Amino acid sequence: MSELKLAMPAISMIDSGPADAAPMSQRPTEVTDGAGGHSQVVIVGSGPAGLTAAIYAARAGLAPIVLGGSAPGGQLMITSEVENFPGFPEGIQGPELMARFRDQATRFGTTIVDADVQQVDLTERPFQLWAGGVRYTADALIVATGASALWLGIESETRLRGRGVSACATCDGFFFKGKRVAVVGGGDTALEEATFLTRFAPEVVLIHRRDQFRGSRIMQQRAIDHPGIDIRWNTEVAEVLGDESIEGLRLRDTQTGREWTEAFGGLFIAIGYRPNTEVFRDWLPTDAAGYLEVEGETGSVIEGVFIAGDVHDHHYRQAVTAAADGCKAAMDAERWLETHALTHAAPVAVPG
Ligand SMILES: Cc1cc2nc3c(=O)[nH]c(=O)nc-3n(C[C@H](O)[C@H](O)[C@H](O)COP(=O)(O)OP(=O)(O)OC[C@H]3O[C@@H](n4cnc5c(N)ncnc54)[C@H](O)[C@@H]3O)c2cc1C
Repeated sequence: MSELKLAMPAISMIDSGPADAAPMSQRPTEVTDGAGGHSQVVIVGSGPAGLTAAIYAARAGLAPIVLGGSAPGGQLMITSEVENFPGFPEGIQGPELMARFRDQATRFGTTIVDADVQQVDLTERPFQLWAGGVRYTADALIVATGASALWLGIESETRLRGRGVSACATCDGFFFKGKRVAVVGGGDTALEEATFLTRFAPEVVLIHRRDQFRGSRIMQQRAIDHPGIDIRWNTEVAEVLGDESIEGLRLRDTQTGREWTEAFGGLFIAIGYRPNTEVFRDWLPTDAAGYLEVEGETGSVIEGVFIAGDVHDHHYRQAVTAAADGCKAAMDAERWLETHALTHAAPVAVPG
């Protein structure tokens, strides 16, 4: 394994599972003439949360439909080595891990459609969803649309993503042992990530474009007092330098416009996440940061609508916690369907 995460191209995964995954009688209606079909459980999102929910729902005989969105596989598709997902002691590439999730979901009869849900109507059951111009209906719905890391949006940052540029210190910090790293941001996340990275990096430079942080007072003081953290106020990243991997940054003083370069072995962008909740905002409450609010473990204010993964969880933000949430949401949905006598479970397809 290389020390730095290597950039992996997003792989396109559009399929409806193997033809022999489940008899047609227990599979959802085929997508024809603009009619997407009905399932007892429709899952929105195909990251670790959505696909784990699909594995559980499929194995419960519910023949779920996953509307997987335009980023099939979710956030792990933009990373390379994943070393903290249990069961892979040697590590596994993010896209390969998600391909395995997907295979496991389709193996038991999940239908996956890689289209974004553009509109929903949760007024009454069955719930209605439109994806790619096609209408789907569901007795129970699992929302697992995740969140998207915010990036600076400069070309060199995109090019070196996974080659020393990351948006997750918990996930990738370990790869930067002994390297001088930069963290961009001024909120709690940036302060936390900078402090966390001092475990691995001999010097962490915190780059903030203003002259004060937005984070909580205690986190600010911890970062300011930390001997391993050097703060560059009024500074922004003009360019990430390096061909195959990051070698340094061209920095700019936001007040004077003066530019200079510094050597770095890693760059962490910690300017926030955008929860993917747009289509549900008129139906489900969100917190101040836009994340969906959960009732109990996976429930919502609408009976029969369940929530899983990073779309509500901005505390743990890990594949394993999202997967666990997906499992819980599927089990809760299954029990809810049972209680409302909406299950028509067919035997689970067990491929020979
Ligand atoms: C750079 C990086 C590296 C990471 N490395 C690790 C790591 O090493 N280990 C680890 O445990 N975690 C890692 N993470 C965190 C991990 O990827 C997330 O915690 C996890 O993917 C969250 O899973 P999720 O299913 O909740 O959401 P996501 O993975 O965000 O998936 C969301 C899904 O919802 C879909 N979607 C969104 N909107 C719609 C819509 N309108 N209609 C239909 N579908 C929609 C998307 O297409 C996507 O399939 C990393 C994250 C990043 C950004």
